[in-house]
Amino acid sequence: MMVPVRCFTCGKVVGEHWEEYKTRVEDGEDPEAVLDDLGVERHCCRRMLVSHRDLVDIVAPYQ
Ligand SMILES: [Zn+2]
Repeated sequence: MMVPVRCFTCGKVVGEHWEEYKTRVEDGEDPEAVLDDLGVERHCCRRMLVSHRDLVDIVAPYQ
């Protein structure tokens, strides 16, 4: 589905970083370095981006 806008645990806004995170990781950058660079420091917030899969385009036709 779509990336959650806020971290489930602490409420920090993480959704705004998704597009940049995805592009940079696809371009071969280390996810750890990208998250540090984006200022996503807490592990509760980092897991929101690291564990996310973009499924919205696959699921959308069935709704
Ligand atoms: Zn968090």
